[in-house]
Amino acid sequence: MSHCEECEALRESLFDGTRWVLAHETQTCNWDSDTSLPEVAIGEASSFAHFCCEEHAIEGIERYLLQAGARAQWSDVRPVDTCARCGQDFETARAHRVLVLSTCAIDGEDVQQYDVQHVARFCNNCLPKAS
Ligand SMILES: [Zn+2]
Ligand SMILES: [Zn+2]
Repeated sequence: MSHCEECEALRESLFDGTRWVLAHETQTCNWDSDTSLPEVAIGEASSFAHFCCEEHAIEGIERYLLQAGARAQWSDVRPVDTCARCGQDFETARAHRVLVLSTCAIDGEDVQQYDVQHVARFCNNCLPKAS
């Protein structure tokens, strides 16, 4: 997925430092709370690409979405959201797939996620493969 040697090294092994991780998560939003933001239940999560810097992560995301026939959204979740691939509206209160970019600080076994961005959301007719 990547042309960068640093990124390739990250695919092979875990090592200490900061890296950018691309993952698919299954999310179900609960909009019943009083705030404007939902409670989000995260089901299955699988990371499939690691990058040495944000710039390479963005490049990787663009390549991945191009392959999947989708576009990046980078938007906050709404009760009815639009699928990044087919453009259909769907309810986020139902389980759906989200492409997530997280920034992680790794120190041995200790992995700290300190920034999570939602790149794109997909309806249940469009479940891009995590590869
Ligand atoms: Zn890189
Ligand atoms: Zn769709």
